[in-house]
Amino acid sequence: MKNLNLPSVSKRNIAIQITNAAERAIRQGHPWLFENGITKESHRGKAGDLAVIFDKKRRFLGIGLYDPASTIRVRILRVLKPATIDEHFFTKKLDTAKKRRIPLLNTVTNGYRLLHGENDGMPGLIIDRYADTAVIKLYTPAWIPHLQNVIAALAQVSPTERIILRLNDRLKENSYGLYDGMILVGKEIIPPLIFSENGLRFEVDPIRGQKTGFFLDQRENRARVEKLAKGKRVLNIFSYTGGFSVYAARGGAKKVINLDASKPAIDAAKRNFALNFENVELHEGIIGDAFEIMAKMRKENRLFEMVIIDPPSFAHKESQIEGAIHAYKKLTRLGLGILAPKGILVQASCSSRVDNELFFNSVNVAARQIGRSLKEIERSGHALDHPIGFPEGEYLKCLFAVAN
Ligand code: SAH
Repeated sequence: MKNLNLPSVSKRNIAIQITNAAERAIRQGHPWLFENGITKESHRGKAGDLAVIFDKKRRFLGIGLYDPASTIRVRILRVLKPATIDEHFFTKKLDTAKKRRIPLLNTVTNGYRLLHGENDGMPGLIIDRYADTAVIKLYTPAWIPHLQNVIAALAQVSPTERIILRLNDRLKENSYGLYDGMILVGKEIIPPLIFSENGLRFEVDPIRGQKTGFFLDQRENRARVEKLAKGKRVLNIFSYTGGFSVYAARGGAKKVINLDASKPAIDAAKRNFALNFENVELHEGIIGDAFEIMAKMRKENRLFEMVIIDPPSFAHKESQIEGAIHAYKKLTRLGLGILAPKGILVQASCSSRVDNELFFNSVNVAARQIGRSLKEIERSGHALDHPIGFPEGEYLKCLFAVAN
């Protein structure tokens, strides 16, 4: 293991009093205490110090990680019953998370999310596994003083040869020598790093890839695509490394085309295809802007029997919701413009700020606007390893529909 020179947790906990509304939310199990829910703090702590939250009657309400620079001032680890936040505490959380995923481990899958942040009781921290490599991703510096304990807990519950650290943008400038893509435990990766998902093989770059390297949350939607793809020409828009396409090919698609703005993603998609199939002619990769290329295909009268649209999140904050809806509708129209009659539209959204109803409605409205009605096959959401533990934890939705 790398020698880490990490800050320690202050000996003195921060005592916090809160508003009635914040108390209600915490009692209902909400994992965040916002800055504006606080009425009194004993003192200003540093990131990762333990904050003890008291209710109106001055009784213990919860304990969590303090983050002075975030509007989410405390990420709550435990409510109602006091707890010592140490390696043992994290071991128990990880063990519960692991048990939840047992059904998944009975499939030919060794790439999965072991710990899904707040939804598994560890707000702001994610752990993904790719075969014998674990990736810890931190979303708040409050985890830094606890990192050694998390690593030790992980080694007990789900031992791997290697542990990689990923940091979100806020953490990239830190004074502890931690960097995005750092190998915390184990040897350098000799690429490619390969893992399995439902018996298909994929390469992943957990050091430089998007998120932790792969969009594990779409596993079940990919399996749905596989079942629907037989004999079809499939266009996979925002393909990243081609996950949906590899499933479509196993399902009997006669052609799969990946489209993404990122060249490294399309290159990896090509390799992922070759990892699973000999007939590489079946696959084509296009690098470019999805909106432009779909419009161009329409002009050229190119048609597909299945169009998959899985864009990045368009709404990171409240004010972007309207723009996101506009973009989803535009994508629906563009997608339908190159979808053959009776073809299948698969459209997903990963913006938690756009709720299910709003998203599904928008897609339907956009289809009607251009005279294509949708016959829905399925509306789907989260996979087993991406549980939903609080309202904001629900982000993924995907529509499967036949377009007339
Ligand atoms: N469907 C993928 C995940 C998609 S992530 C999977 O199953 O793995 C979103 C992808 O959209 C990223 O790979 C990003 O490079 C790509 N992207 C973002 N904006 C784009 C644009 N305007 N045109 C094409 N691709 C874009």
